[in-house]
Amino acid sequence: MNPKEEKTLIIMKPDAIQRSLFGEILQRFERKGLKIIGVKMTKISDVLIEEHYSHLVEKPFFNTLKNYMQASPVVLIALGGVNAISATRLIVGPTKGHEADAGSIRGDYSMSGQSNLVHASDSAENAEIEIKRFFEESELFDYEKPDYKLINAEDHF
Ligand code: UDP
Ligand code: MG
Repeated sequence: MNPKEEKTLIIMKPDAIQRSLFGEILQRFERKGLKIIGVKMTKISDVLIEEHYSHLVEKPFFNTLKNYMQASPVVLIALGGVNAISATRLIVGPTKGHEADAGSIRGDYSMSGQSNLVHASDSAENAEIEIKRFFEESELFDYEKPDYKLINAEDHF
């Protein structure tokens, strides 16, 4: 396996679902060449939100963040690919939609620093923890994609 092969966690947040942007956003990850290795819809519990956003629990906006994240179900997506973590963060864009570059998901569809459509893991360490937080091993799939070598040029091997 390519040593730069990574797995990362995406959460389609409630505003992505409520604004009917799920398909549009998923398509961007697919078209980039990332592989969908797990998908499920869920309503995130209090415990899991507090765990997932443990770096923010002391912030004054934590309660509104929690309400936002529980406003509807979310869709959890595990993605795989070469350099998947950094590539995905670039596609998603920085936290505040109004500061994100056009072309990024947040830059194109979001104005807010809270309702910013998607979560994407920010490091290899967090990606591993976050995937384990939301997926059982049996819910993740390993399979071949025939376009793999077309998408990942020789210099990756
Ligand atoms: N957030 C917020 N207000 C802030 C910063 C963050 O409501 O001032 C929310 C926002 O939804 C963000 C999430 O908390 O996506 C997690 O924050 P983080 O700093 O980890 O940003 P991200 O990694 O999502 O860009
Ligand atoms: Mg983050």
